[in-house]
Amino acid sequence: MQTEQSNLLNPLELLKCSGIPKNLLYQSKIEVDHLICPICLNILWKPVACGQDKCFQSYCEVCINKWIQDQAGDVVLQESLYSQSLIVAPDSGSGSQYSSQSSSFSEMPQQIHIETTLPNCPKCKKPFKKTSIPIIHNLLDSIQLSCIYAECNTKPGYEQFQKHILQCPFRRINCSGCGLQQLQNELEQHENQCEQVNIECSKCYNKMSRKQFQLHSVDDCVQQQFNNKDNQITQLNKKIDELNQKNQYLEQKICKMLKGESFDTLHQFSFKTMFTQNYQFTGNQVIEAKLIRPSFNIQKQKNDFLHFYINHKVKTQAIQGIIWRMRIQTLKGNLLIGICSTLCHYSIDFIINKLGEIKRKEWNENKYKLLRKGNFTFSEGDTLTFQFMPLQQCLRITNENRHIVCRFEPTEIIEMGDSFFSFFSLENQGDSLIFI
Ligand SMILES: [Zn+2]
Ligand SMILES: [Zn+2]
Ligand SMILES: [Zn+2]
Ligand SMILES: [Zn+2]
Ligand SMILES: [Zn+2]
Repeated sequence: MQTEQSNLLNPLELLKCSGIPKNLLYQSKIEVDHLICPICLNILWKPVACGQDKCFQSYCEVCINKWIQDQAGDVVLQESLYSQSLIVAPDSGSGSQYSSQSSSFSEMPQQIHIETTLPNCPKCKKPFKKTSIPIIHNLLDSIQLSCIYAECNTKPGYEQFQKHILQCPFRRINCSGCGLQQLQNELEQHENQCEQVNIECSKCYNKMSRKQFQLHSVDDCVQQQFNNKDNQITQLNKKIDELNQKNQYLEQKICKMLKGESFDTLHQFSFKTMFTQNYQFTGNQVIEAKLIRPSFNIQKQKNDFLHFYINHKVKTQAIQGIIWRMRIQTLKGNLLIGICSTLCHYSIDFIINKLGEIKRKEWNENKYKLLRKGNFTFSEGDTLTFQFMPLQQCLRITNENRHIVCRFEPTEIIEMGDSFFSFFSLENQGDSLIFI
């Protein structure tokens, strides 16, 4: 009995894997045979019961959970054996494995399938449905137990058992320094004196054993404090270097941008259109977009504009500017050049037509309203340069042939939200644009 108890010195482990050993029963007015777990043969701990009629067998929660887990492992094994036999079956020569006379029919998987849904109760062999039986809890509450520590005379009731063994003054806990077991209520006193417990010097913040601390001289401590400061300074210097580099890079970038020098040039264009079948895109470095089908709208009784988008979202908070060029190859009809906010539920867009009119469409209206009319016009053969400058929140379209500029102001760009698309609309079959 003595050796058994010494194995149970860690109360946290004791109740993790089984019930309460019978030898810890101190006093009970009733027969405890009903309160024994058939799996671990100890006194039930946190009992759960099988809910099948005429069974109601109780088990420790940990025991039945482990049983269910082990059984689930068995079921997996049975299934893999079964699937192997299925592979073998067609070659076995019986040729009638699905006929009602065949004995193999009764071995069909139904049985296994029931087992996979709910593991069986070890007693009644029927699927285990967890239930709770109040009378078992009441009976358990009436018993008195001994503490697991032989020196302790406390006889806790069932309900106080766990709490008691955790708080029992005779509980042993390992010292964080020397590792030797100490009585729980003497641990603090021991650790306050143990030479191997680690403590922190309040001046240099160095951690060392109490023994080393006693030898920790003022010189040592000051030296350590200097070392700490040196480390801190090294770290800070590294940070300053990093920040300086970043700062330098940004300064150069801002300088270039203010001069209008630093731009990402779009060379690779890709296009997105809802009217794919109406446009033909050809070329790689230089792409020609050509309207190849008539755009006549029967409802409106006139040629309609067909959009396509440059598949490039322009981030308005981007640092880098963006520049791209387009040549108007053929233009017999009109061309709309547009920019459109990417927020689909709150989309604002602007269009420019070849008469130099800039129009604006609100998200809740399906009509473009004239915003202003400038001198910015274009026609067949002209090359247009698009330049977006994020810092100035400005979009500039230059007609290089005519030396005229169309400018969208910061207030207009800000309204677009954090990014926008550019789009182009052709009306007349055969008209085409070339993206350079
Ligand atoms: Zn048990
Ligand atoms: Zn059962
Ligand atoms: Zn105790
Ligand atoms: Zn110690
Ligand atoms: Zn120190």
